[in-house]
Amino acid sequence: MAVTLTNIFPSYDIKANVPLANYTNTRVGGPADWIFWPKSLAELKAVVAYAHQIDLPVLVLGNASNLIITDDGYRGLVIFLTQLTRITVSEHAVTALAGAALIDVTTKAAEYGLTGLEWAAGIPGSVGGAVYMNAGAYGGQVDAYLESADVLTATGELKTYQNAELAFGYRHSKVQDTGEVIVAATFHLEPGNATQIWSTMEEFNTRRAQKQPLEYPSCGSVFKRPAGHFAGKLIMDAGLQGFTVGGAQVSRKHAGFIVNLGSATSADYVAVIAHVQETVAKQFAVQLEPEVRILGH
Ligand SMILES: Cc1cc2nc3c(=O)[nH]c(=O)nc-3n(C[C@H](O)[C@H](O)[C@H](O)COP(=O)(O)OP(=O)(O)OC[C@H]3O[C@@H](n4cnc5c(N)ncnc54)[C@H](O)[C@@H]3O)c2cc1C
Repeated sequence: MAVTLTNIFPSYDIKANVPLANYTNTRVGGPADWIFWPKSLAELKAVVAYAHQIDLPVLVLGNASNLIITDDGYRGLVIFLTQLTRITVSEHAVTALAGAALIDVTTKAAEYGLTGLEWAAGIPGSVGGAVYMNAGAYGGQVDAYLESADVLTATGELKTYQNAELAFGYRHSKVQDTGEVIVAATFHLEPGNATQIWSTMEEFNTRRAQKQPLEYPSCGSVFKRPAGHFAGKLIMDAGLQGFTVGGAQVSRKHAGFIVNLGSATSADYVAVIAHVQETVAKQFAVQLEPEVRILGH
């Protein structure tokens, strides 16, 4: 029986056979059988439950800023949470739906004079993606500020994890193992000096613009920081800046980034990653492990 999601959920924002390259930060990625943008939690729950019922594989994404989708795309349903963006503020906390941009959460916190999330001001991910990845920068990391996260289980149950239950590690959270969908997160923040908060955020963003190739599509730092080293420095010392396959290039501005010069495919990205890993392993006996997720089937 052919799956016809658009017939079953006629009023939902669902499209068939759409190239994921249109939505990923790298601008690479083949077609998904289906893409769905839920406008409410109820829509999300209904479609996840139906997909579970008919065994349709589901991939939940936020801003697609930390992944490479393969050129053959995704056989199943990709759900982008980018319309679930509500952010609410209380005295010591900011709560956001998973699709809210981390950048908007940091702006909202600054507007209310709440300090803690300044380090995240320039990370182009969603709240869900940031919790999933335990994103971090400039000495800050999600696990230091997250109070709790609400998730949707595969069977449609909503539950709340407190910080300690999320088994956070370096670029790791428990949700990577459970496959649950993060639907909201609450960050615990402290009242601070608004002028100072804004200027810290601005300083971090200036540093990003100076060091990172923000003028090209990319997925941020490709590799995790290996113990005792910096991935970017190893790649630079190996003389790999500018190494190019097709349209994917080790950035000349920041060796930890692989940029899309315009015509890159996912295969180009994967080939550059493999070459960088091989060269760094040969020269420095360090095995670089990708931070970005390579997804698709
Ligand atoms: C220019 C640039 C700079 C960056 N700088 C940083 C940085 O300083 N620090 C840093 O840590 N990262 C950085 N990143 C990487 C990236 O922005 C972060 O990892 C971000 O948190 C990923 O969020 P996302 O919404 O884009 O996730 P996506 O790329 O959409 O998804 C990443 C993974 O999370 C899963 N996921 C996403 N949302 C959910 C959800 N709601 N429920 C369950 N699973 C979910 C996806 O299935 C996927 O496996 C950078 C990226 C770019 C392009």
